[in-house]
Amino acid sequence: MIILGHFVSNEFWPGVSNRISEIRNPATGAVTGKAALASIEDVDTIVKTAALAAPAWAATPPASRATIMFEFRDLLTKHTDELAELLSSEHGKSLPDAKAEIARGIEVVEFACGIPQLLKNEHSEIDAEEVASFSVRQPLGVVAGITPFNFPAMIPLWMYPVAIACGNTFVLKPSEKDPSVVMRIAELFAQAGLPPGVFNVVNGDKVAADALLNHPQVEAISFVGSTAIGQHIYARGSTNGKRVQALCGAKNHLVVMPDADLDRVTDALIGSAGERCMAMSVAVPVGEDTANRLIEALVPRVRAMKVAPFTDPSSELGPVISKQSYDRIHTYIEQGLDMGAELVVDGRDITLQGYEDGYFIGGCLFDHVTADMPIYKDEIFGPVLSVVRVASYEDAVGLINDHEFGNGTAIFTREGDAARDFWARARTGIVGVNVPIPVPVAYHSFGGWKRSLFGDHHIHGMEGVRFNTRLKTMTSRWSSGIRTGAKFNFTDGK
Ligand code: NAD
Repeated sequence: MIILGHFVSNEFWPGVSNRISEIRNPATGAVTGKAALASIEDVDTIVKTAALAAPAWAATPPASRATIMFEFRDLLTKHTDELAELLSSEHGKSLPDAKAEIARGIEVVEFACGIPQLLKNEHSEIDAEEVASFSVRQPLGVVAGITPFNFPAMIPLWMYPVAIACGNTFVLKPSEKDPSVVMRIAELFAQAGLPPGVFNVVNGDKVAADALLNHPQVEAISFVGSTAIGQHIYARGSTNGKRVQALCGAKNHLVVMPDADLDRVTDALIGSAGERCMAMSVAVPVGEDTANRLIEALVPRVRAMKVAPFTDPSSELGPVISKQSYDRIHTYIEQGLDMGAELVVDGRDITLQGYEDGYFIGGCLFDHVTADMPIYKDEIFGPVLSVVRVASYEDAVGLINDHEFGNGTAIFTREGDAARDFWARARTGIVGVNVPIPVPVAYHSFGGWKRSLFGDHHIHGMEGVRFNTRLKTMTSRWSSGIRTGAKFNFTDGK
């Protein structure tokens, strides 16, 4: 059984709190580990350690920080199989999915390896003879991260490689549901040569999160999670004078134009199912004929999705994370039926031999969903796809722009004009054209609009560098002096 404390000063530390959480294997429901739930005192100890390490790390040249990042990248690559297994055993996703998530996280480390170049700044000669202005980006101090369960390796990696490369020290509070992979990665980061106190992990729940929000030595908080919690994090953190970015919930629409390649559309919808903030959970076919053809193409694909634990190499859909999520998804499905949506594929009735207590739900497909239904309005965060039929392209754009969330969206079409109009007008932070789950590569930035993001900065890429640094602009005058012959007499004031 795994028993996790915290990771501080490059060592495991049990902390002083006597509260713990249980970690479960969602495929069996069995308890596989326990993790400490930090107290306010534990958080204080860890933040103070990070604050003590901050000045020396900020003074370490960016090229030396990059050298450690290169080593960290190599260790992550070398240990990917081991990390993926640990991740899947607590999250439940298939091993290829876990490896893909680690690979996407490694891309951010690769971006951070370029930090000497990324921190280069602007310089202007105001008056070529004497006056110049230039700007620098300086680290903030201690930055904290609070992350969700659904990408337990990748989402923390969106944050701390950039923050640390910029010269900050970092305290990460991962999800209490699947924290083991982060603890192993912390060990690898130490092995890469990171000085003690630069990267720390505090395990915990709301108590630890709030302690970070209230701690005077935490300068900034990156949060990824649900909208209700993100709004709380943003409000509390900014009231306490911290810089906050809170990336939150989503309901991503995929618009299917009449000329779309339906094979690609179904691949996109099936491949993005489940517990992902970039899941394409609403398909919006334009026109009745498109809708009928889409349903016809989707039904066999949804039915054929292989639901199995990660230990089965043919698994395409693992269990959902917890009994609570399982129950919540079932409630939504019943609500959808009560309100008149048509459940054309019902994945509820599924039992896997040997995994009767696991939290498995097969793919579910709802047709004739309307904008007033909770299955349309809320983020279900499970393998439930809703089809909302619309009469025109304008109706599709209206639907997306009126929704509370604005994380991402995509359109599938062969027409350049529709694609161009779509990306220009969609009120979301991320747009895909013939591309599902348009999560940008690490050297671009990721984030939503509307109630999918609180704060000003998107995450990773140059937005990550901006979030994790303060801009300072200097103007200097060097009057002609010793070079042209110094004068030592008092001047007349000119
Ligand atoms: P969650 O909001 O329940 O938890 C996120 C983090 O907040 C966890 O570390 C948790 O311990 C902490 N937390 C929980 N309750 C808290 C409270 N009352 N006060 C302070 N902290 C608290 O989210 P989750 O269920 O782990 O993850 C799923 C959610 O994350 C979905 O809504 C999904 O859309 C969102 N998500 C968003 C993105 C994005 O980029 N926008 C990416 C991944 C996931």
